Amino acid sequence: MRLFADRGLCVGSGMCVLTAPGVFDQDDEDGLVVVHGDPDGRGDAAALGRVVDACPSGAITFMP
Ligand code: SF4
Repeated sequence: MRLFADRGLCVGSGMCVLTAPGVFDQDDEDGLVVVHGDPDGRGDAAALGRVVDACPSGAITFMP
């Protein structure tokens, strides 16, 4: 799957980090989303689907 986090839309709520902490983090400087590692090939589509639903700004998209 291909994961995309749009830092231009992110408002730093941290819901992605709470839902999938192994995939997402927040920048120490601005609090905006950071994706760990290569965005291709992440295994847990269900967790990423919950992140898409939980993000208040629509910043997270992925294609299974
Ligand atoms: S849940 Fe959305 S708005 Fe909140 S930190 Fe993650 S990407 Fe940004």
